[in-house]
Amino acid sequence: MIFAANLKCNHTRDSFNEYAKILNENLKDENVLVFAPATTFLNEEFKFTLGAQNFYPCESGSYTGEIGKAMLDEFNIKTVLIGHSERREILGESEEFLRAKFDFAVKNGWRVVYCIGESLELFESGKTREWLDLQLANIDLGYKNLVIAYEPIWAIGTDKSASAEQVGEILEFIASKTSAPLLYGGSVNAKNIAEICKVKHCGGVLVGTASWDASNFLNLIASC
Ligand code: PEP
Repeated sequence: MIFAANLKCNHTRDSFNEYAKILNENLKDENVLVFAPATTFLNEEFKFTLGAQNFYPCESGSYTGEIGKAMLDEFNIKTVLIGHSERREILGESEEFLRAKFDFAVKNGWRVVYCIGESLELFESGKTREWLDLQLANIDLGYKNLVIAYEPIWAIGTDKSASAEQVGEILEFIASKTSAPLLYGGSVNAKNIAEICKVKHCGGVLVGTASWDASNFLNLIASC
């Protein structure tokens, strides 16, 4: 099982240091990824894999405010998150740009956690599968270092997770197209994680809110 934390725009270098210390002291051999903001990266050894929430598909250059490969290399980051709905919706990342990020990551052999998911409107009109098909058509589903995170937008940060049955149906659909490990994300917490982890094809979870506090995150992992 993969337990991925998305810290989003939270933590300072000091608080991340504390966070990492607590995880280091308590993790054994669980497969944990932590997607931290670049401003909190530390040059240390962790018992988890440190990943980047974002990058610009370049080595370095004139891309104001962005982070390039040379900066990630400094911290030995080789795992990246691409396609999160907040970057699609709030930052306006298009399918074309996501493709450029994906291709750049593939060129560098990075592990990619690629997020897909439908809005409430699409969900309610029964168009989830068509939408996911469009999102999946943008990337190489045979890439060996690919992980796909199914994150319905209506379940993110809402405390309203998709049901285990809904997750099962969609993971079945995605699994018919790729052998990449599949994660579910969207209001996962210590109460619902056990049920979600039992869903067929579920290879783990991508957790936002419930991962921001290290003890909460550890508790959630223990509940799986
Ligand atoms: C996320 O943003 O990837 C996420 C799953 O958030 P939350 O757990 O807060 O719904």
